[in-house]
Amino acid sequence: TSTPDTVLQVSALLPSLESALSEHYRTVRLPELPDPAEYLRIHGDEVVAAVTSARVGVSDALMDALPRLGAIVHFGVGYETTDVARARARGTDVSNTPDVLTDCVADLAVGALIDVMRRMSAADRYVRAGGWSTAPFPLASRVTGKRVGILGLGRIGRAVAQRLEGFGVQVAYCTRTPVPGVGYRHLPTAEALAEACDALVVTVAGGRGTEGLVSAAVLEALGPQGYLVNVARGSVVDEPALVAAVEARRIAGAALDVFTDEPNIPRALLESDRVVLLPHIASATRETRAAMGDLALRNLQRFMTEGVLLTPVPEASPSTH
Ligand code: NDP
Repeated sequence: TSTPDTVLQVSALLPSLESALSEHYRTVRLPELPDPAEYLRIHGDEVVAAVTSARVGVSDALMDALPRLGAIVHFGVGYETTDVARARARGTDVSNTPDVLTDCVADLAVGALIDVMRRMSAADRYVRAGGWSTAPFPLASRVTGKRVGILGLGRIGRAVAQRLEGFGVQVAYCTRTPVPGVGYRHLPTAEALAEACDALVVTVAGGRGTEGLVSAAVLEALGPQGYLVNVARGSVVDEPALVAAVEARRIAGAALDVFTDEPNIPRALLESDRVVLLPHIASATRETRAAMGDLALRNLQRFMTEGVLLTPVPEASPSTH
């Protein structure tokens, strides 16, 4: 007897992607089931592919409940929520949605950098609160010509650097391996990079390898005139250390799109006028989200017809090994 092939939708997704999944495949939406554990016990062996958000991933326990799982399709470029080595060891391939979101994430990173340095959000609050009729807004920091450090010069980091060239900014960067063919100065550690720049833009990959990379020492090196922008993952920044640095004015300000425990943000950050807070929106434009949904769907389609993914993550791609 053959079991029917099912696509498991692990988390809530873009509505248009959700409808495409159910239109094209026998799809089961895990979060909407009254008893997910019961479903997995009885029907786990019917699932051949899982589609999930970068935020949720596929847990070890879920992987174990799906013996025929051949592919994990992530909506998003980060995939640290799924243990890729584990998936690969059991023959499950993993994909993400690179490139299609790069421009929008880089746009937002540059916008956030200008916002925190020129204090645009703070100035907006000032105008709304009636401050303008009382006193001029305090002077901010110039952006053009400053030294910007990019922590993680991958797809997004490079797009940020390209944009900043238009501002006459001196770009330096830190990666584990220097990027061949780029003219920017490479620094070997996050601390050395922070020391050498006026603003540090974080665009590294998330996950265990970069946890707490922006440490108290890195913030110290950034210094009281330095700004931090994080559009990568909350886990990359030691958040208690950041809170302490902001409170003690050991850094000039921070613009953050990602946090340790989203959507919870430490009170001290909520109350600081020197911090720009964004609700994890770097890729959140209609155009980019549609492109991400389309790429996720095309990965699934390729897997369902040919048994291979379109954009497998590097660790999971047999061709890169
Ligand atoms: P890439 O894989 O292209 O780039 C990752 C970069 O991080 C590489 O340059 C890599 O270089 C560097 N890196 C990894 N580990 C370290 C380390 N320990 N020290 C220094 N550098 C390191 O990814 P993308 O540019 O496409 O995306 C980057 C991240 O942005 C994603 O992983 C995701 O978490 C985040 N993101 C956030 C979004 C948001 O909504 N805020 C939206 C999209 C992405 P090397 O390997 O040489 O060290």
